[in-house]
Parts: sequence; structure tokens; C-alpha cells
Amino acid sequence: MRRYKGFTLRFAVNALVLLSVLVTVMISAVVGYQSQKDSLTRTTYQMNRVYTDKIADTVNGLFDSLFDSLDEFGREMSTDLHRADLQEKFQLFQRTHQSFNAVFLFDKDGILVGGSNVPKENIGTKVDSVGTNQALQERKPLVSEPYMSKTTQKLIIMLSHPIYDEQGEYEGFIGGSIRLHETSIFQTILGNAPFHEDGSYAYVAGSSGILLYHPDKTRIGENISYSEVVQETMKGRSGHLKTINSRGIKMLASYTYISSAGWGVVSQTPNKVVVDSARGLVKELLLYMLPALILFITAIYWLIGKLASPFSVLARFAAQLSSSSSGNAAFPSIHHWNYEANELHRAFGRAVRHFRFQFEHLKRDAQTDPLTGLFNRRTLDQFVAHHISQKLAFSMMIMDLDNFKSVNDTYGHDVGDEVLRFLSEALKRMFGEEYVICRMGGEEFVVLVPTDDSEAALYDAEAVRSYMANTTSPTGNRVTISIGVATYPGMAETAEQLYRMADDALYRAKRLGRNRVELAGEGDPDIKSS
Ligand code: GH3
Ligand code: MG
Ligand code: MG
Repeated sequence: MRRYKGFTLRFAVNALVLLSVLVTVMISAVVGYQSQKDSLTRTTYQMNRVYTDKIADTVNGLFDSLFDSLDEFGREMSTDLHRADLQEKFQLFQRTHQSFNAVFLFDKDGILVGGSNVPKENIGTKVDSVGTNQALQERKPLVSEPYMSKTTQKLIIMLSHPIYDEQGEYEGFIGGSIRLHETSIFQTILGNAPFHEDGSYAYVAGSSGILLYHPDKTRIGENISYSEVVQETMKGRSGHLKTINSRGIKMLASYTYISSAGWGVVSQTPNKVVVDSARGLVKELLLYMLPALILFITAIYWLIGKLASPFSVLARFAAQLSSSSSGNAAFPSIHHWNYEANELHRAFGRAVRHFRFQFEHLKRDAQTDPLTGLFNRRTLDQFVAHHISQKLAFSMMIMDLDNFKSVNDTYGHDVGDEVLRFLSEALKRMFGEEYVICRMGGEEFVVLVPTDDSEAALYDAEAVRSYMANTTSPTGNRVTISIGVATYPGMAETAEQLYRMADDALYRAKRLGRNRVELAGEGDPDIKSS
């Protein structure tokens, strides 16, 4: 199974920082977009409203002046409705009031008395139309609903003003008609650019929801009372709202009620204009922020690298420590400006030193004999196994103190121990680094000589034997040793065979009188075979 390693501190902190930067940027983008959109929407409503208010004012002013003119002209005619110069008067009036397509006078029974731009054959007849009926009925200044003129077959509206004689008796009314499709007054007022380049446009609806003006002329006369904006103006209200136009486009509409005519003027801008503009602004903002953001993230990345570096160094060192190969790696030196890093480093360093000291101690205890400080039996076995596995040539001498039991018996156990140390000191002194010197147990010692030349090994063994035989031991007398010598690979193939060969030689040395050195495999064929 693969060991789960996890993320590095550097990666985790960097990821966290990047995430928080992204979230912050996203939140500011969304908030920025919303506030931009709200502010642009407000401005759009205001601008459209200023426009519709201005149009309403202009229309009101125009109608007031048209009513005044009709009133004045009506008063002049009221003295005699059937005067001789009626037609000339009307033509003069028409010329000075180009807004009207036709002007006319009706008596109180709805009979056309005269006018300009009216069919001659209609004069003296009763004309039954929406405009005339409304005027006769209401007997006050009014703007009619749009209706189809019977004579011209054109959609018209009619402005009319009642005429009273000096006694206040109703005499009839004077009226002027305006053709909706070709009239110039709306175009004069609303301008000739039907659609603004951003898709904004304005239209005018009558009091019953009939379109009086629309940049798309084919729609004039259409009833749009279903529109929620027009429903508002039909109630006499002015204001603004978000709506969907006849083509399904979301619009920001402002509207003003035109009090003199009971109409509503609406100016609207596609919502998309505002949305696109807000998006553009946010994009621009983000682009402005980008270099600063990149700089910031780079700086943070660098800083996190610095901050995490002591931990990475410690982690790498710890990983090395746990892998058996490089347990002796030098402890990394760290001087960091981060308090925790320094403390951790110090504590970790102390722990590692302590651990290494303990380890060395335990290793020595496990490898050596406490009385003499020489290698113990287990370590000897390891050396022998290692030498054989590597096919290293060497010789083994096994030595045993002669009659040691009687040393103990005569001088006491402590003096016996002194003798053991005395021999081990001699061995250490005589043999260098390449020799492996062990106490195998009791009063038996083994030395591995780094050569398979039996002559050389015998020479070394003889040196030890003669030293002991000629030197006063801690007992005050001499204590001799016997030594058996065997070589590898000349005499044995395995560790077991080598031990046995050397041991047999030692046994022979004892048997032949002690204080001797014997080479394995020589003499005593009867003993060797046993
Ligand atoms: P040989 O010449 O045949 O080797 O006779 P020996 O008396 O040396 O032989 P034996 O094996 O009978 O005696 C070994 C003695 O070594 C027995 C034991 O008391 C003594 N001995 C073993 N270990 C120690 C030790 O650590 N300290 C001391 N003082 N004596 C030990
Ligand atoms: Mg012994
Ligand atoms: Mg002995």
C-alpha cells in the first residue's frame, strides 16, 4: 500500500491564499456589478423621465395655445356663423395654424357650417363622427380619441372648442383635426430620430391606450392598453418601471401623463444597455486590478515560501532520519525570523541529539562486553558472518586462560576479573583497528586477524601467548593462555566449520600441556577427526 504523503505546508497555504483572493475578487466583482447596475438604472430612469416631462410640457403648451387660438377664432365667428367671408377667414386661420390638417365649424345640431380643407359637398350636412359627437356632447375644450375620418379615411384626432353667443347660449364648436400618420407636430416635438442607437425610443398613447405616435409608423392606431406602462398613464400617473416590450425585450421605461390631452408619453431604454455597461465597467475594474493582484500574489507566494522553508527543511531532515540509510545526516542549521520555526527547530534539534546519544549508548551496550569493553559474542558472530558473506580472507584465534578456575579459587573472583581485563588491555594494545577483538564469554577470547596467511596469524598468536607467559598478572604471578588458530577460506567454508576448527586446535593446545599455540588441521589426526 502506498503511504499517504499529504500536501506540503507551502502548497496548502498558497492554495488557501489563492482561494481567498479569488473569492474576494469574485465578491467585489459581483458587488461592483450590482451597484454599477443600480446606479446606471437610476440614471437611465432619470434621463428618460427628464425627456418625457419635457415632451409633456411641450405638448401641454402647444395644446394650450391651440385651444386659445380656437377659442379666439370661435369668438370672432360666434357673432354670425353664416357670414359671407367665412371661407376666407378659415383659409387665413389654417395658414397661420399649420399644425391642423383641417379646421371647421359645426353648429349645435352637428351640421358642418364651413371650414378649410373640408369637402365642399359636406358643407350644410350633418357629420356623424366620433370627434363631432364627443364635442357636441361634452361642450368643453377637448382632444378627441383617435378615430378614422370618414372623408379622408385617415386616422385623426380632433381638438375642439365650444362656441357660446353673448347670452351664453351654446352655438356649436370650432375644431381642428390632426392626421396621426403624417402630422408633423409629434415629429417636431419628439425629433426625427425614431430609434436611438442604443435601442431607446419614445412613444405616445392616447387616453384609451391607442398609439398616437410610435417610431414604427405602422403601429400608430394600435391599441396597446394591455401594456402595464400605458395602464399607468391611463390612470393619470407618471413614474418609471421595468417592463417587457411587444418584442419581448426587457425595458427601463419612464412615463409622464400629459394632462391637457389625457395622453401618456413613454421613453424607454433596453435593460441590456445598462447590464452591458455595468459588465464593461466591472471588466475594466478587474483589468486595472490585475497587475496589483499578480504582484500581491507573487509577493505572498514568495513570503509563504520563506515562511514554510524552515518547516520543509525540518520535514526533509525528519524523513531522512526515519529512513535507515542516512540516520547520521547532519542536523540542518536554521536561523529564521519566525518564532515558531526557531522554537521547533531548537526543540527538534535537542530531541535528535538526545535520541542519537541514547541510540549510540544502547548500540554500544548491545555490542560490547561490560567487564572488558571488548565486542561480545553477538557482535563477533556478525563480523564473522559479514566477512564470510563478503568472502574476505581472515584468520580466527580462540584463546582460553589456563587453569582459570584455580585463579579464582586462589585469589578470589575480583582478582579473576582483573586478570580478564589485564588480558583484554594487552589485546587492545597489541592489535590495531583492522583486528576484531572479542570476549566470547567466561575466560575465552577471540581475535579475527585480517589475513588468511596462517604463518602471520600464528605469529600474532605467539606474540600474545609469550606476552602473558612473560608478564606478571594482577595475581602477582603469571597466568598463561592457550590459543587455537584457523583460517578462512583455506580451512573452512562456513562460520560453524571455522569455529569448530579453531576450537579443536585450542582443545589440542590444552591437551598438549597448555601455554601453547596450535594451528587447526595439524598433528593429532585422531583428535581432528572427532
Ligand atoms: P582449563 O585450563 O582447562 O581452561 O581450566 P579452567 O579452570 O580454566 O577451566 P574451566 O572451564 O573449568 O574453568 C573456567 C572458569 O572460569 C570457571 C569460572 O569460575 C571462571 N570464570 C568464568 N567467567 C568468569 C568471570 O567473568 N570472572 C571470573 N573471575 N571468573 C570467571
Ligand atoms: Mg574455558
Ligand atoms: Mg580456562
